[in-house]
Amino acid sequence: MTVQGATPVEVPAFIGGTKKMLIGGNWVDAASGEVLDAINPATGEHLCRIAKGGKEDIDRAVAAARKAFEGEWSRFTPHQRRKLMHRVHDALMDNFDELAMIETMDMGAPLLRTRAYRDWISQLLLFFAGQCESGGIAPSRNSLPGNFLTLRQMAPVGVVGGIIPWNGPLMGMWWVYGPALATGCTAVLKPAEDASLSVLRVSELMLEAGVPEGVINVVTGLGRDAGQALAEHMDVDRIAFTGSVPTAQAIVRASAGNLKRLQLELGGKSPDIVFADADLDKAVPGAAMGVYTNSGQICVAGSRIFVQRSIHDEFVERLKTFAGSIRVGNGLDPATQIGPLISQRQLDRVMHYIGVGGGEATLAAGGRRLGGDLAGGFFVEPTVFAGADNTMTIAREEIFGPVASVIPFDDAEDALRLANDTPYGLAGGVWTQNVSTAHKVAQRIQAGTVWVNCYGVIDPAVGFGGTKMSGYGWKGARDHVESFLYPKAIYMNLD
Ligand code: NAD
Repeated sequence: MTVQGATPVEVPAFIGGTKKMLIGGNWVDAASGEVLDAINPATGEHLCRIAKGGKEDIDRAVAAARKAFEGEWSRFTPHQRRKLMHRVHDALMDNFDELAMIETMDMGAPLLRTRAYRDWISQLLLFFAGQCESGGIAPSRNSLPGNFLTLRQMAPVGVVGGIIPWNGPLMGMWWVYGPALATGCTAVLKPAEDASLSVLRVSELMLEAGVPEGVINVVTGLGRDAGQALAEHMDVDRIAFTGSVPTAQAIVRASAGNLKRLQLELGGKSPDIVFADADLDKAVPGAAMGVYTNSGQICVAGSRIFVQRSIHDEFVERLKTFAGSIRVGNGLDPATQIGPLISQRQLDRVMHYIGVGGGEATLAAGGRRLGGDLAGGFFVEPTVFAGADNTMTIAREEIFGPVASVIPFDDAEDALRLANDTPYGLAGGVWTQNVSTAHKVAQRIQAGTVWVNCYGVIDPAVGFGGTKMSGYGWKGARDHVESFLYPKAIYMNLD
C-alpha cells in the first residue's frame, strides 16, 4: 500500500492485521482475546489492532521475565551483554526508515522528527552498551578488627516494569530497555494504548538480534488494566514510569505492596526566560520550538515564556510570525514540521485550554483546529497567548499541546519568583548574552534540567530529570544505570 502525500510513501508491511504481544519469546494474543484499535492521528484512519492485555497477561509476562532473570541471562557476562547490545543497535540502524515510518503513522510526529531519532537512539543505545560493566565487585577499605576482606557489589534489581507514554515510544522505550540490558535485569514493557506499534516492531528486531526469550516482554493494553497490574505485581522489583502526575500517584499507591523501587518522570510547566539582551534571532525560534516541537507533546515543553517587559511586544510580534510560518501537516510529508495531536481526547483537552486561555489572556496567534485536507486528523495551530500572568490556568496546568503563554517580567528576581511559582520542576531555559545573568538564573531555577541559549538538547551521558512534582530518578548518565542495580556488601573473615 502507498499513501499519497507531497511524496507517496510505502507503508511498512508491519502495519495491518492484529498485533500480538511478546511474552517469554512468543508472540501471543491477550488472554481475554480482546483487542484495541490503533489509529493514525493524522487521518483518523484505522491502522491495525493491538492486543488488549490485562492482569493475566502481566502475570505471564512477569513470570517469563523472572525465569529469564534467574536463567541463562544471569550467566551472560557484561562483555556478552555489550556485544548483544551492539547487535541490537545495528539491527535498529539497518531498519530505521521503517521504524521512523511506523512511529510517524502511529503517533503523528513528522518524519522530520522520527528520522532524526536515528542518531539520538544510536547514541543512547551505545551509551548504555558502554555501561555493561557497572555491576562489578570492588574491594573496599574497612575498619573492622581482625582480618576482613570487604567487597561491595552492585547487583541487578531483577524484573523491571516499564510504563511509557505515547509521545515518543520509539525513543522512550530505551530508557527502560537500555539500562535493563546493560545491567542484566529483565523487563516487562507496557507501552501507551495510543502508540504501541514501534515498541512491538523494535522488540521483534531485538529477538532476531539474539536477545534471549523472556529478557524483554511487551504487554499492550490500557493503563488501568495492564499498567495497574504491573505496578501492583508482587514479583516486579522496580517500575520505570514516564507519564502524568495522577498516574504516577496511582502507581506509587499500587506499588506499596512489595515496596518497589520507583523512577517517576512526569510532566511540567517549564519556564523559558528571555532577557532583553537576548539575541532574538535565536531566542524566538528557540523558545517557539521549545514548546511547539512534537505539537507541544513533550514533557519538557517550555510552555511559560517569560519575556522582559521592555521587549515583550516585539517578542510577541516575532513569535506570532514564527508560529504562523510553521508547517503543520501529515508527518509523512517530508516538509512537515509539526504533526497532529495524538487523539481526539487530547485534541478536546487542548481546545478546552485554548478556550479557557481566550478568557484569561490575549490570543495573539493560532488557536484553531485545522480543517480542509487535515480535517480527519487532530491538528491544532501553533498558538500564542500574550499578556498572560502566572496565576492563569493556561500558565499553571500542563496543556501538552502547541500552546505558549507569554508572560512579562521586570527583572531577574521577578522572573525567578514567577518561574519557580509552579508545583513542577522538570526543566527551564534562559536566553541572555550576559554570562553572569545566565549562571545566576540557571542556578536558581528549581528544575532538574536548565538550558542556556538553547532548549531541549539532551546528551545520554549527562542525562536529565526532574524535581518537585515532576518526579524523581535521573534518565541517562551512570545514575540511571545504577538505579537498575542495588548495592550489596560481602564481609569475609580471612582468619
Ligand atoms: P499517562 O500517565 O496517562 O499514561 C502514561 C502511561 O501510563 C501509559 O502507558 C498508560 O497506559 C499508563 N497508565 C495509565 N493509567 C495507569 C495506571 N492507573 N496504572 C499504571 N499505568 C497507567 O500519561 P500520558 O497522557 O500518556 O502522557 C503524557 C504525560 O507524560 C504528560 O504529563 C507528560 O509531561 C509526561 N511525560 C513525561 C516525560 C518525562 O520524561 N518527564 C516524558 C514524556 C511524557
